[in-house]
Amino acid sequence: MEAPARLRNVGHFIAGRDAGDDASRFGDIYDPARGQVQARVTFADEATVDAAVRAAADVFPKWSRTPLGKRTEVLFAFRERVRAHADELARIVSNEHGKIVTDAAGEIARALEVIDFACGLPQLLKGELSENVSTNVDTYSLRQPVGVCVGITPFNFPMMVPIWMLAPALAAGNTFVLKPSERDPSASLLIAKLLQESGLPDGALNVVHGDKVAVDALLAHPRVNAVSFVGSTPIARYIYETAAKNGKRVQALGGAKNHLVVMPDADLDAAADALVSSAYGSAGQRCMAISASVTVGDCAKPLLQRVLERIDKLKVGAGHDAGNDMGPVVTPAARDRILSYIDSGVKEGAALLADGRTLRVSGYEDGFFIGPTLFDNATPAMSIYRDEIFGPVLVNVRAGSLDDALAIVNANPYGNGTSIFTRSGGAARLFQSEVQAGMVGINVPIPVPVGYYSFGGWKSSLFGDLHVYGPDAFRFYTRGKVVTSRWHESNAGVNLGFPTHK
Ligand code: NAD
Repeated sequence: MEAPARLRNVGHFIAGRDAGDDASRFGDIYDPARGQVQARVTFADEATVDAAVRAAADVFPKWSRTPLGKRTEVLFAFRERVRAHADELARIVSNEHGKIVTDAAGEIARALEVIDFACGLPQLLKGELSENVSTNVDTYSLRQPVGVCVGITPFNFPMMVPIWMLAPALAAGNTFVLKPSERDPSASLLIAKLLQESGLPDGALNVVHGDKVAVDALLAHPRVNAVSFVGSTPIARYIYETAAKNGKRVQALGGAKNHLVVMPDADLDAAADALVSSAYGSAGQRCMAISASVTVGDCAKPLLQRVLERIDKLKVGAGHDAGNDMGPVVTPAARDRILSYIDSGVKEGAALLADGRTLRVSGYEDGFFIGPTLFDNATPAMSIYRDEIFGPVLVNVRAGSLDDALAIVNANPYGNGTSIFTRSGGAARLFQSEVQAGMVGINVPIPVPVGYYSFGGWKSSLFGDLHVYGPDAFRFYTRGKVVTSRWHESNAGVNLGFPTHK
């Protein structure tokens, strides 16, 4: 009998070298379109995590003292390499995640924006100076790197989210250990190799793969100084509490239930386009996906009719086949979870206007496909509204007024992004001011901030205060220091009084 073909193995990258072929634990990496395991990923144990953190700690003195101009050169070279490898990166992401290749290319483009901003590191790391705060005394502030930083990232943006963290962290002079999602880990290894080719010293970026064992070892490691996390809310809360207890600075971004409020005066065609693009793009597996619409007044019927017309035209299929709009979901477990939510929505009494449960894609019968699904007349008590489904399921709730819509959005435990579609400046302004969310769109469906602003939610969508990338990242990845200095010839003599500004 012929031996089964050996699966490709995805290993770690530590101190500039591939590692981890001798591991005893592995995870499966699926091909979501074909519904098969296509590779396996090595899971790190405590010793491997320790080796990665030590590699980062050993090179920290060298990298943190590397002159700003040289660090900028490395970031610029990395930017050019990512651009040159953009197609390859998009194919890697699509192959393991399942999203269509053009959508993956969008993720690479947004990652590049973050690298662009990090290239401005000399400007971003400037301190302030006050001359003559007392006679012959000057005071100035410095921003210095925090040390070894860790990033723990989710499956849904395997290129962009690691870059949100490691580009500003490295730019600020830190060294880094990345623990990417074990479901689509390959893009992170290409990122590490491109940075190495760009002149980053070995050990300044290490990649370890794994599950809770690896994460817990990182959270407990005494040489780790800062932890950034993006993922689901229960794990974000756990990371925040554990890392803080262990004395590390931490930012932990969680899940979302993003609402799009449609006012009766809105351009309903534009609102329907926005809803379909933002609810079903990437099969609903985006932290900024719109998963709940709130229709105000009598616009539900004409709006949802337009949404259904658009759903009918969507092409669902393998991510690598050109012409498709939506790919499969990431794993069989994700597919089963989403299907069971659709079943619950029907049982709970919501009106199922489009049912994605029966979709079959010809040639990919075993793929993890679910068609675009639409519910109307959901209520805040239903699980399809309450929980983050993280699949191609849009749930509509009807509201009598803008105040009612705001009350619904604000009572939801999540507060990542939200949008309003309206032609009224007054309604938009009230919404922007009163809504409890970190990112707000006005006639824009997915208000992901550009790379020179920062990204983050409120409530259960973010534990911590500083957002990721943009200016907040340079605060998170640096420590402040204020120097008070006197340079003059004569000695002031002994004075036990408290220093004053005279
Ligand atoms: P996840 O929480 O399951 O996993 C995220 C990371 O945590 C992975 O690296 C995983 O290995 C690790 N992890 C999982 N279970 C763990 C445990 N018990 N202990 C320690 N570590 C653990 O999330 P996911 O399914 O990969 O990603 C989807 C989620 O991420 C959704 O909830 C989505 O909304 C959220 N997300 C949020 C944002 C944001 O910016 N707020 C962005 C992207 C994704």
